[in-house]
Amino acid sequence: MNNQLYGKLIFELSHEGRKGYSLPKNRFGDYTLPAALRRKDDAALPECDELTVVRHYTNLSNNNFGVDTGFYPLGSCTMKYNPKLNEEIAAMPQFQNLHPQQPAATAQGALAVVTLLERSLCALTGLAHFTFKPYAGAHGELTGLMVIDNYHRSRGDSQRRKVIIPDSAHGTNPASAAVCGLEIVEVRSTADGLVSLDDLQRLVSAEGPSIAAMMMTNPNTLGLFERQIPEIARLIHGCGALMYYDGANLNPMLGVCRPGDMGFDVMHVNLHKTFSTPHGGGGPGAGPVGVREGLQDFFPFVSPYHGNYAVLMRAYAYILSLGREHVKEVGPLATLNANYIKESLKDDYLLPVDGLCCHEFVFDGLKDKSTGVTTMDVAKRLLDYGYHAPTIYFPLLFHESLMVEPTENESLETLDGFISVMHCIADEARTSPDTVKSAPHLTPIGRVDDVLAAKHPVVTFCQMSKDEDENVNRK
Ligand SMILES: *Cc1c(COP(=O)(O)O)cnc(C)c1O
Repeated sequence: MNNQLYGKLIFELSHEGRKGYSLPKNRFGDYTLPAALRRKDDAALPECDELTVVRHYTNLSNNNFGVDTGFYPLGSCTMKYNPKLNEEIAAMPQFQNLHPQQPAATAQGALAVVTLLERSLCALTGLAHFTFKPYAGAHGELTGLMVIDNYHRSRGDSQRRKVIIPDSAHGTNPASAAVCGLEIVEVRSTADGLVSLDDLQRLVSAEGPSIAAMMMTNPNTLGLFERQIPEIARLIHGCGALMYYDGANLNPMLGVCRPGDMGFDVMHVNLHKTFSTPHGGGGPGAGPVGVREGLQDFFPFVSPYHGNYAVLMRAYAYILSLGREHVKEVGPLATLNANYIKESLKDDYLLPVDGLCCHEFVFDGLKDKSTGVTTMDVAKRLLDYGYHAPTIYFPLLFHESLMVEPTENESLETLDGFISVMHCIADEARTSPDTVKSAPHLTPIGRVDDVLAAKHPVVTFCQMSKDEDENVNRK
């Protein structure tokens, strides 16, 4: 894309007097805003003709990488296909034009969807009640921990201020516990990547009466199924604490097994991951929280109404379209796809924990460490080949983590394409490492300085000096 207009801001394309719109005929008569509400100067809006506007935004959208443009193997994020049918249903005017303040009698259909979705989630998770207020997974974690805190306090037990969290946990787990005012106690993993029962036993003996809950992800962040949940639940319940299940990655368990049956008391589900809402860049999401019978009285007030309603709508449409029968195929297919990629690539990439994985797995960078090519380099090179990078440098258990989650929807050809590109990059690392180390070569912007971009984001229109521009964008 080499034309002169490309890459400019809409403000730079502006010419005084150009117009790209026409207002509909005024059906309401004239109305003059009170002087106090009127701006003194005209808003500094760009003025462009329609075609320039259309091209500008179409070109910008082409810079975006999404599930609809290519394979997106980000681990722990479940970037899966979002059937267009769900979009159509969520956008039906009956749902889209609802107002949260309209009389409940006029919104019975919409409320019925919430109840029916609750029943579906109860059936899928083995828990008894759900609240739909949380806006995302992390918000769900906070809500769930507040349920647990409220429960302990209701019994007059205010000593329980500690939460046990595995060292492999998603970063939001300790963050949510801290926001909830709880103290984090880390339990170690064994060499095979699972929670260490010995270490847990030690913690429970030492800290028992001060433990509020244990938070777990299963399959864990290495994509491994924690096989000792019943023992873990016995230990935790034995000391009076509750079991919290981080259900952000419910994908491989769907219709196969249920957290409620394993001994979990409270959990959240990421509807925007497992139940197909397009997400990224921070939203939109929904992190409904489910609880065992009796705990529903402890739901806190975390937001008004029913959270992001359109996300609930998509989730319900997705569940209905799969049905009781096909929902069972999600987990096994996601697991098959992940294992297929893992086995196909483990000759070139280091697999620190071998064996069957669930929906995702983690490499510790390239196997051949002599090339100096890092996981960051591999991720950047993938962009040149038209693939979104996997999750990198997470989990923190390995130095060069590269975490892949293909999801259940991808075709064999897509998986094979990714595998061959990953092999190709491993070859390049051996034969011309500099090509990989200086990647990406084909994206509009090369490597940004992550720290500078995070600490000094330039998100408003201002004329940057040439030096500044070089620093921010092209390091
Ligand atoms: C994505 C994820 C979260 C956080 O969910 P958000 O909706 O991004 O807040 C928590 N735990 C795990 C395991 C996740 O993968």
